[in-house]
Amino acid sequence: MNIPFVDLKTQYRTIEADVNAAIIDVLQRADFVLGREVDKFEDEFADYCNAAYAVGVDSGYSALELILRAYEIGPGDEVITAANTFVATALTISNTGARPVLVDMDPYSYNLDPDKLEAAITPATRAIMPVHLYGQPADMDAITQIARRHGLLVFEDSAQGHGAFYKGRRTGSLGDAAGFSFYPGKNLGAYGDGGAVVTNDPVIADRVRMLRNLGQRAKYDHQIKGYNHRLDTVQAAVLRVKLPHLDHWNAGRRRAAAEYDRLMADLPVISPRVTAGVDHVYHLYVIRVRDRDGLMQHLKQAGVATGIHYPVPIHLQAAYRDLGYKRGDFPITETLADEILSLPIYAELSNDAVAYVVDAITAYVDQSVYEAAAMPQAIAV
Ligand SMILES: *Cc1c(COP(=O)(O)O)cnc(C)c1O
Repeated sequence: MNIPFVDLKTQYRTIEADVNAAIIDVLQRADFVLGREVDKFEDEFADYCNAAYAVGVDSGYSALELILRAYEIGPGDEVITAANTFVATALTISNTGARPVLVDMDPYSYNLDPDKLEAAITPATRAIMPVHLYGQPADMDAITQIARRHGLLVFEDSAQGHGAFYKGRRTGSLGDAAGFSFYPGKNLGAYGDGGAVVTNDPVIADRVRMLRNLGQRAKYDHQIKGYNHRLDTVQAAVLRVKLPHLDHWNAGRRRAAAEYDRLMADLPVISPRVTAGVDHVYHLYVIRVRDRDGLMQHLKQAGVATGIHYPVPIHLQAAYRDLGYKRGDFPITETLADEILSLPIYAELSNDAVAYVVDAITAYVDQSVYEAAAMPQAIAV
């Protein structure tokens, strides 16, 4: 068997006629830039998130950066985010001129640990940008409480969290504003780059709308200095076809995840733990194992593609030497970077395929050398 890490072709086959028709419609209407489908998608995506406004932009990166710029966050400001997130989160902060301040993760949810948040707040802190990493909402109540106490804004990085619920509320509606990515492999993916800013604040929605489109409110009426970060009409048309399927696809991911959980219950691996009151949409299914690299090689030979999200934490990247962090600053993030492994997950992943992956893992961990290492222990820090 050959099991890819994601399988966009199979999903396309299930919606092929609708996608093709929607794209041809755009070609015939020729409203390629900020066309009708962008408006409609924005309304539908805002509704989906139970929020007032969605503004389509050209990537998840742009969504987060434009949120920061809409709030005039820049040089001299600090924005706190998770040490174990994708580098794009930090780049949105540093590219405004603000300083990304990192906070270590909780080793059970893999999300920013609210207990470590307050120590990272300084007089320069303006906002907290929690990440719904791997598809599990961050601990928003705890984070919001701390933010309110210190007068800070809260921006969700929901690039991996489409459709997840936190205590009955959708991601995208949990903070002051949220950034979504529609990169093809995300739970809601376009056929190219795309993203959206979601917010209940009309002033911020209006500013992001201007910022994405050269600072214009109307043609040639430039209110502020903006950028070109518009969502493509063709991508919006694809996203409109896909959005009604998102809950069903997320259910498919949860089904596959539950099957992994069940079949691996007795293996010396740690499966994802879902925090009470939240709903995990499994953008990634991440396990913890000893000898991760050995297992990864073994799975590759068995035809199973895997990934590491992420192998080198932001504070140890050459690009972020200027932040002055050193090895040891975020011990949980550093330990887990060596132990996490992302297994294939997508709505169409069959239970047979999951069983094949788990059989391959079982064959590896049955080797005595592996058993000696056993289950990763609770982290002693
Ligand atoms: C994908 C991703 C982004 C960036 O989204 P793009 O659309 O690729 O720019 C930001 N943050 C996280 C956590 C992501 O996974």
